[in-house]
Formats: sequence, C-alpha cells, structure tokens
Amino acid sequence: MNLKFDVMIIGAGAAGIMASISAALENKKVLLLEKMPKIATKLKATGGGRCNLTNTLPQDEFMRKFGKHGRFMSDALKRFTADDLREFFQTIGVQSHAPDGFRVFPITHNSSTILDALDKELRRLNIEVLCEVNITEISKANDVFIVQTAHESFTAEHLIIATGGLGYPTLGATGEGYTFAQNFGHSVTSLHPAMMPLITKEKWVASCKANTIAAATLKVNLLQYKKLKATGDLIFTKEGIRGPVVLDFARELTPILDTQGEVPLLVNLTKGLNEEQIFTYLKTCLSQNPTQTVLELISTLLPTSVAQELCNMCDITFEDRFKNLEGIKREKLVKYLAWTPLTVVGHEGFKNAMITRGGIALKELNPKTMESKRVSGLYFCGEIVDLDGPCGGYNLQWSFSSGFLAGKLGKSDD
Ligand SMILES: Cc1cc2nc3c(=O)[nH]c(=O)nc-3n(C[C@H](O)[C@H](O)[C@H](O)COP(=O)(O)OP(=O)(O)OC[C@H]3O[C@@H](n4cnc5c(N)ncnc54)[C@H](O)[C@@H]3O)c2cc1C
Repeated sequence: MNLKFDVMIIGAGAAGIMASISAALENKKVLLLEKMPKIATKLKATGGGRCNLTNTLPQDEFMRKFGKHGRFMSDALKRFTADDLREFFQTIGVQSHAPDGFRVFPITHNSSTILDALDKELRRLNIEVLCEVNITEISKANDVFIVQTAHESFTAEHLIIATGGLGYPTLGATGEGYTFAQNFGHSVTSLHPAMMPLITKEKWVASCKANTIAAATLKVNLLQYKKLKATGDLIFTKEGIRGPVVLDFARELTPILDTQGEVPLLVNLTKGLNEEQIFTYLKTCLSQNPTQTVLELISTLLPTSVAQELCNMCDITFEDRFKNLEGIKREKLVKYLAWTPLTVVGHEGFKNAMITRGGIALKELNPKTMESKRVSGLYFCGEIVDLDGPCGGYNLQWSFSSGFLAGKLGKSDD
C-alpha cells in the first residue's frame, strides 16, 4: 500500500465519510482511518435505526436552533444544503422522504440503506479505508502531516479530524480527537453530555414508568433561566424522565446542573392548560357528575398512575370527592395540575448521551473552509466542533455539510 496521500481523514462517521467523498470528487488521493471494526457505527444507530438525515427547515431557522453561535454554520450549510444532501443520496441510490413534512429519512426507514450506499461510493471513488486502526501519534513536519499507527506511518499535506464527540462510547466515541486537536494548539471548550434521559429527585416517577404524556411543557424554575422552556412528548422512567422533549431540554440543563447541583423544573402535564382553564374544566365535569372522586376526575386529564401520584402529593385519598375537598387542597391540586414540580439531580453521563455540548473552539476555525486558524492544512468537521443542535436531523446535516466543506480543502465554489 502506498503510504502517501493528499489528505488523511480521521474518523469514518457522517462527517469523515462526507469529507472523504468531497475530497475524492476533487481528484484527491484520500485515506480514511477508523478505529472501529466498521465505518459509520454511530450513523447506523441514528434515529432508532431509521436515520433522520436532515429536516426541511429553512437555513436561518435551522441555524437558530444551534443557539447563539449557529451562524458559524452558514457557509457550510450554503455550500451543501439539505436539498444537496438529499440529491447526493439520490444519486448514490437512496431515496428520501419527510413523512411528517419535517424530518427526512431514507424511504426504507433503515439506516443500513445509507451505510451500504456510502460504502459503495467510497469504493467507487477509490478511497482507501482502513478500519480498526490505532493511531499512536500525529505530527506535522515540513508542511506534511504524519499519522503513526501501531503498524504503519502515513503522510499527507492535509489532515481532517472528524472523530465526533464523547456520547455513546460503545459506538466509537473516545475523545481522542480532542487530544489530537490540543496537541496542535487548539482549545476545547468544556464538554457536557447532551440529549439523554434525566434523573429526578422525586421517586414517585417510578410508579408512572412508561407512561407517555403528549405535549408536556417543561420549564426551569430558576429566575435566571426562566426563558428555558420546551414542549413535546415526555415519558416517565424508573429514575426520572425521558422522551423527545427531555432529550432536547437536557442539552440546556447539563451545564446548569454542573454549576448548581440540581435544577428545579415545573412540568405541565395537561397539554398546556393553565390553572384557570383547569378549574373551569373540573367544574364543568362536576356539574355533569357531582359524585366523582378526585382520582376519577383528574384521570380524565392524566394517565391514572400519574393522577394517583398527584393525589398523593396533595394529601388526597383516591376515594375523596372533589366537592368535599378543603379549599387549600383544591388549590394545591389545581396548581400541581398546571405545574407539577420535578427536580433534576443527574443524568447517565456520556454513556447514553446522543450529543456532546462543547468542542473545538469556533474562533480558532475558519467557517468558510473549516480549516484551523492555528495550523494550515488542518481541518475539523462534525460533532467534534463546538456546535450542537436539537433532535430532528440537525446534527447529521451539520456533520454532512461541514464534512463536505472540509473535504474541499479550501477550494472555493466554481
Ligand atoms: C443513538 C443516537 C441516535 C442519533 N440519532 C440522530 C438522528 O436521527 N439524526 C441526527 O441528526 N443526529 C442523530 N444523532 C447524532 C449524530 O449521530 C451525530 O451528531 C453524528 O453522527 C456526528 O457525526 P460525526 O461524523 O461528527 O461523528 P461520529 O458519527 O461519532 O463519527 C466519528 C468516528 O470517528 C471514529 N474515531 C474516533 N476516534 C478515533 C481515532 N482516534 N481514530 C480513528 N477513528 C476514530 C469513531 O469510531 C467514529 O466512527 C444520534 C446520536 C446517537 C448516539
């Protein structure tokens, strides 16, 4: 095997594979190095094995979802748009669709379709792919990068680091990429697990295990974070809460948890009804059936197990009739129906984190090329960079777009 290349790419995930293809399309001789036995292990697991590739949001809104630094993505997203991504997959034999008008999946709803097509494309473009490599050292001398593995030494004028984040170590995340970057003088912002189930102080959640609440609203009950709010499906677990709204909210909570130790939440489990609306609703129900117990009554708003726990919290027995309740208990019940208190005290760390918050500092990268401002010829793309988006195809689109741009090695659009 010839050990000299135009570009070496470390990490065969969404970003590294796209960077390889993009560089090969510019007639570069490409080496793609992956430490797992196969390429794209994490990509295969995405979207519950269905691979939510991207979404249909316009670019400005898309970038806003990544927070205050989202505009960094502008060049990458313009150079390789969501439509470009779908067209690219179409040309390599993968049709996609957006069944809910927003989230885009391969029409097979099977990530293996994506993997097989990418694998074929890597072969068609004669990209050298080496799996199960153990990189022991990376250096640069005389304008050439040297990657030393346990068995060989490879060289190239350009190096792209696409090693992803720290979440789901079983799918290949180890964080070595951050060390490679630091060795080249880059800074890495603080790293937090994001998008994972949360553990609550309240133990009652265990009795509601597996109950799903549609359109639950979560908000942080701390003055300085009062703007943090999200709505979506919530599922109770043995130890806390999970579900799409929790995954997205967890991104915001982990940095607060690190500093505050616990985060008080208020959760609306009644599809956004406020205290007044709840009171009116209960009164209407009672006028039709005045002998209803509290439990029967509030079970029309919540799954019975959750209704039982709310009764417990308000010192109400399951047999108590609403009309006989003391005023103070009624008020507490209505208040808790509108905003149930929950306290987040932890999470499962990177083990089950779908995304890493933090990464290579954006100010050290050129957004027009993804090249390092510290070391010429060195590029970064994908999740290793300090950007993270919510659930819904955002993170894969960013990985593909930034990978495509990095693979151009600074060449502008013709
Ligand atoms: C369970 C799960 C489901 C998800 N679902 C979705 C979804 O549906 N839609 C969405 O947009 N996002 C989803 N995400 C997030 C998305 O998968 C990531 O943001 C994206 O895969 C990041 O791509 P990447 O190429 O930057 O990193 P990765 O896909 O993590 O690829 C990095 C690669 O680098 C390799 N590597 C690391 N270190 C080294 C080293 N030292 N030497 C050689 N190779 C190395 C790793 O083994 C890995 O293969 C999901 C994440 C998880 C965990």
